[in-house]
Amino acid sequence: MIHYRILETGFFLADGGAMFGAVPKRAWKRAYKADDDNNCRLAMNCLLVWNDKRVVLLDTGVGLKSLGKLSCYRFNNLKDIAEPVYSCGFEPGQVTDVVLSHLHFDHCGGCTYMSDNRLNITFPKARHWVSKLQWETYMNPNELERHSYRSQDMTPVFDAGLVRLIDKDVELFEGFNLSVFNGHTKGQIVSFIDLGKTETLLFPGDVIPTKAHLSDSWISAYDIEPLESLAAKKRIKERTDGKHVTHVFYHDAYQTE
Ligand SMILES: [Zn+2]
Repeated sequence: MIHYRILETGFFLADGGAMFGAVPKRAWKRAYKADDDNNCRLAMNCLLVWNDKRVVLLDTGVGLKSLGKLSCYRFNNLKDIAEPVYSCGFEPGQVTDVVLSHLHFDHCGGCTYMSDNRLNITFPKARHWVSKLQWETYMNPNELERHSYRSQDMTPVFDAGLVRLIDKDVELFEGFNLSVFNGHTKGQIVSFIDLGKTETLLFPGDVIPTKAHLSDSWISAYDIEPLESLAAKKRIKERTDGKHVTHVFYHDAYQTE
């Protein structure tokens, strides 16, 4: 029996034009709110999935450390990811797996935290699943994404031998599948979790960041390969065709699923 809970870890602001790319504001403003400066409030909704053997966390939020350089995002209501994990009845040491959709700071910042002036690993017993392509980008980022990666988020996890790199689809356990997609960034992991024969829980990360982005051609200007993003959404829809899908929208501040 699989259980799940969405874990809210905080909010930030992003420019609406950047979030919706070539879509005109007169169209997207009906689907997602913006303030007078065109800022959209975005969430960081992680997901905890567990059964009697495994406790799996999908993404970890931005965390609480080293946010000074990111003040333009106006992060607010932030929570250390350990807090909602505790409220589901688990200690961080009981988390068996952390699946990272990708390694931009707003998705993996919670993997480490500062205490006594040093970096610590939040989930010290968990295998941290990352795609090989994404890891290569993290180690050697292109100019567009360079400012989205921070060494302090994942290097300690790697040095502790906790990173598992995948270069193809992987079944984490029966009914829990990780697939690799491009578009937003190289090698984004999308998780497909069977909740029954015709029910799928989907964690698409930034392939579909908000409910408004379900439309194939509504693609963020942050995406490095928009045509790949379009193809990724089509592939996800084909794969879940005929099933009832519950999406977890990582960045949607208004409709988390
Ligand atoms: Zn993101």
